[in-house]
Amino acid sequence: MLHTLKGLVLRETPVSDNSKYINILTAERGRISVLVRGALRLRGPHTGATQIFCYSEFVIYEHNDKYTLNDSSLIENYFHLCEDFDKMTVGTYILNTVEYISNEEQPEPQMLRLALNTLWALTHYKDKDLRLIKGVYEMRLAFLAGFAPNIVNCQCCGHGVESERLYLNVMEGTMLCRHCSDTSFKPVHLENDREVDDMRTAQIIISLAPASVLAMQHALYADMSKLFSFVLADELLPEFSSACEKYLENHVDHHFQVLDMLVW
Ligand SMILES: [Zn+2]
Repeated sequence: MLHTLKGLVLRETPVSDNSKYINILTAERGRISVLVRGALRLRGPHTGATQIFCYSEFVIYEHNDKYTLNDSSLIENYFHLCEDFDKMTVGTYILNTVEYISNEEQPEPQMLRLALNTLWALTHYKDKDLRLIKGVYEMRLAFLAGFAPNIVNCQCCGHGVESERLYLNVMEGTMLCRHCSDTSFKPVHLENDREVDDMRTAQIIISLAPASVLAMQHALYADMSKLFSFVLADELLPEFSSACEKYLENHVDHHFQVLDMLVW
């Protein structure tokens, strides 16, 4: 049976006899693996559309729950990312995270759109800090994966983000204002403020400025077309980026090694 699907190439894995498997993320079938015959020839028919960072249309043959590529045509590639080491690293991180988190053989239209929008933003927004793009992507991905935090109000007193500092409880996905945090007797591990309780049994609590929390709210709830259309003060970019990364990694319980290549 033949299917025509659009997909983003997440990974290429060479196999014997001049072929490779590609993992692609599609809207209709989520993540699937497709055999590309003759792929390793320099001028093979599919070379231009089946490399990582390619978004392409694929005609695939399905037989016994396995897919083989029949035809391919490139829609867009994001190869320009590779001209900048940090952009290439964040781009690779995007491919790695959606590959890890997306479902196999289940529709993933929102996750595909988020990945494509973020790759587009990385490629085209010259004045956006990479930490902002990466953090927004991580929070929205957490939302799509079903573990969005509730950071609109303080969990305890119900106030919004008026407090001068706010405290994100990573695993509970909740937030406390400064006052409620001060009166709470729970042992805490403040990742940013370096206050670590003696027991080492603490929860992961991240101290954040109100503007960083508002940026997270934007990442969670903004229309996809306006996802990156806001600014955050330069001095808050490190805590915003770090908090979003910790939130995602702790909820999927996986460290993405490609991030170790970033030195910001
Ligand atoms: Zn409170």
